[in-house]
Amino acid sequence: MTSPNPKDAVTSPTVHFSRGIPPLEAIPSADIAELTGSVLSAEPDRVFQYAPIGRHTGDRELRDQLGAFHSVDPDRIFVTNGSLQALDLLAAHLLKDAPRKKVLAEAPTYDRAVQIFERHGAQVSGIPLRGDGLDLDVLRERLRTEVPAFVYLIPDFQNPGGVTTSEEKRRELVRLSAEFGFTILEDIPYRELRFAGTAPTLLGELAESVEGARVLTIGSLSKILSPGLRVGYVIGPPGTPGALAALAESTYLSPAPLLQVVAARAFASGLVRRNIDEVRKLLRPRHDTAVEAVRKALGEAALCVPEGGYYISVHLPVRTTEEKFLAAAAAEGVALTRGSAFYPADSAPPSGTVFLRLPFQALSDEEFAEGVTRLAAVAQRAE
Ligand code: PMP
Repeated sequence: MTSPNPKDAVTSPTVHFSRGIPPLEAIPSADIAELTGSVLSAEPDRVFQYAPIGRHTGDRELRDQLGAFHSVDPDRIFVTNGSLQALDLLAAHLLKDAPRKKVLAEAPTYDRAVQIFERHGAQVSGIPLRGDGLDLDVLRERLRTEVPAFVYLIPDFQNPGGVTTSEEKRRELVRLSAEFGFTILEDIPYRELRFAGTAPTLLGELAESVEGARVLTIGSLSKILSPGLRVGYVIGPPGTPGALAALAESTYLSPAPLLQVVAARAFASGLVRRNIDEVRKLLRPRHDTAVEAVRKALGEAALCVPEGGYYISVHLPVRTTEEKFLAAAAAEGVALTRGSAFYPADSAPPSGTVFLRLPFQALSDEEFAEGVTRLAAVAQRAE
């Protein structure tokens, strides 16, 4: 954590643009506690025992609920301890026998995902992210010389860019998957947090009607219920859950039965749906004022105006290095995540700019506006 400038410490606390975590008021703690209490008293034998053999793909009740939520066959679902574990298992599964370990991702993308893929031996390469998704001309060019093991995408309210991939680009990506024979991983933790416009189709759904296309969808309850429950999941073709269960069995057997049953009851009782509505209501005004504040302080540098999720991002023109910009921002009382860290190793923000991810979900209107005003002042002064 960065300390604020000592002379400002009391009057102007640091504005943290550094973490994409749910605000406490977006987590229905009391309702989850009540559900947990009733599970503990009614079914202790079920939740304190190992998951039954053959159930290492996830709790049956939770898979049924997730299947109903996504209108897919529950047998296509595999439950994980949060979606990061899904990324880890999928990377292991997809890269194990891959002749080439090339992975393509949006630039910028979610830094932890890149680290996971690299840990499994992947060479991750960035394709520029535009305001409506991946630059498909660049992608096609790359595919001509090398077909990746997989392409990793965050198509809804992307972290860190805030961008949603257009319907047209989704269709083309699915078509390219079939034509060139690569898998697409679509990571959708923010998808339900839409507060304007209409949702484009899931790539996984589009793939169902394109022969040879292969899409694995990765979901999470972290942003719609609670990140502490650590419930994530994969929706894939019928063989996928079994293959991933073999990896699970050799390491941790299964996610915690208690947390899975609590998550299943949160769906069954309507809590998940209600909470999604609550979170949308909470985020929408924060988003609207944040967009206004960015326009006012930083001009039209934003990559897009997101219609949901947590993030606004900008490529801010500066006359200095990222290093110096971050140091000056810290001295001014603004904590940022290093923007270049969101870029896979062979890519970088456009020259003459720093990339700023500005999460608005957990800040008050005043804090957010104060933060971007300080950033504008830093950019103006920095040489
Ligand atoms: N994918 C993306 C794109 C994310 O932004 C995050 C969390 N910030 C995750 C995965 C991890 O989510 P989980 O809590 O389900 O592991």
